[in-house]
Order: sequence, then C-alpha cells, then structure tokens
Amino acid sequence: ANVIVADFVKSSVRPDDCPKEGLPEFALVGRSNVGKSSLLNSIVRRKRLALTSKKPGKTQCINHFKVNDSWYLVDLPGYGYASAPQEARTNWDEFTRNYFLSRENLVSVFLLIDASIPAKKIDLDYASWLGQNNVPMTLVFTKCDKRKKKKNGGKRPEENVENFQSLIREYFEAAPPWIMTSSVTNQGRDEILLHMSQLRNY
Ligand code: GDP
Repeated sequence: ANVIVADFVKSSVRPDDCPKEGLPEFALVGRSNVGKSSLLNSIVRRKRLALTSKKPGKTQCINHFKVNDSWYLVDLPGYGYASAPQEARTNWDEFTRNYFLSRENLVSVFLLIDASIPAKKIDLDYASWLGQNNVPMTLVFTKCDKRKKKKNGGKRPEENVENFQSLIREYFEAAPPWIMTSSVTNQGRDEILLHMSQLRNY
C-alpha cells in the first residue's frame, strides 16, 4: 500500500458536482484544528496538498484528490469552528450530510478525533449521527504523540481513545474500526493506507 501519485482533481460545492467516474473514495472529516490537513499531507507525503479553505464562514468545498489514478481521498469541510455560532454547528452542513447519504462510491468516512484531549460532545454527536445513518465509518485518532502532563489533570491519548470508544458504543452494532495516528511521527500512516486498500478490495 503506497501512494505514488496524488493529484488535486476538483473542488465541489454540491454533491452533484463531484467526480462521476465512480472510483472508490474515502472522506476525511473532523473538527477544525483536529489535524486533518496535516494527516492528509502525511498520507500523500506532500507539504501542502490540502487546500480546503480554513476560514469559517467562507464557502466550504468538498475537495477530491485522486491517488494512484485509481481512488479518491476527499477532504470535507471541518466542523465546530470556535468562532462560529454554537447552534450553527450542532449538525453537519446540509451539503456534507447529503454527500454522506447520497455518494454511492463512498467506501468509508474517516472521522478524525483529537486523541490529545478528552472526548468532545460535538465529536460524539457526529459519530453517533454516522452510526445511526449507517454510514460506514473509521475512527482516526490524531495527535497521538501529544502527552499532557499528568499533574495538570491531562489524560494520555490511549485513555482518551478508550473513553471515546466506550461513549459511542451504543450507537453501533459493531465497533467501528479505529486507527491511532500522528502526523509528527507518521504513526498510523501505513495502517491507514493498508486499511483503505483492504476496504477497496473487500
Ligand atoms: P485542520 O484544521 O484539521 O486541518 O488541522 P491542521 O492540520 O492545520 O493542524 C492543526 C494544528 O494541530 C496545527 O498547529 C498542527 O501543527 C497541529 N497538529 C496537527 N497534527 C498533529 C499531530 O499529529 N501531532 C501534533 N503534536 N500536532 C499536530
């Protein structure tokens, strides 16, 4: 499992605009600042492939990247911007929701969760929405290299990961697959690529 070439294909503002070739695709989504751009760039080993506009309130696009000419990595708009009004962020954008529910070649959503902090309600809500709507999901824990000082009440990434999984258990018939990653150490990179290739050949 390796990325030989990755090319930006297009930005779409409606699910209808997305590429129509029907190649298998994997969508990356998560709270803003979760480390999505860093992970995307670490997967494809580029400094700056991810282009998604990070400014809240700016037009949010679905960005398609074609890998090895045979499958897509999809960068979805982040959610939960600190500066956005709370009520506007309690649900996926309608656009993102439509994408999840209508995209037939979507193999799995990779929901990114920051492992360096305790579980956040908004992430639990989004995970449960995916579970309840039977959208195939893989949990990708980010920033697993980050160690909080115990004396400040911080938990280890492993504890945060375990806690998050136990909190979402009720929403899933079977526990979703999960991968621990770090864009600093590249932990989990090969595992993600292997997992994606297994899902494509399934
Ligand atoms: P995005 O908003 O989800 O695209 O997040 P970014 O990729 O821009 O990362 C947000 C912040 O977290 C930046 O300051 C990154 O340097 C940092 N960051 C991202 N990934 C990691 C990681 O794996 N480990 C650590 N320690 N920091 C990370």
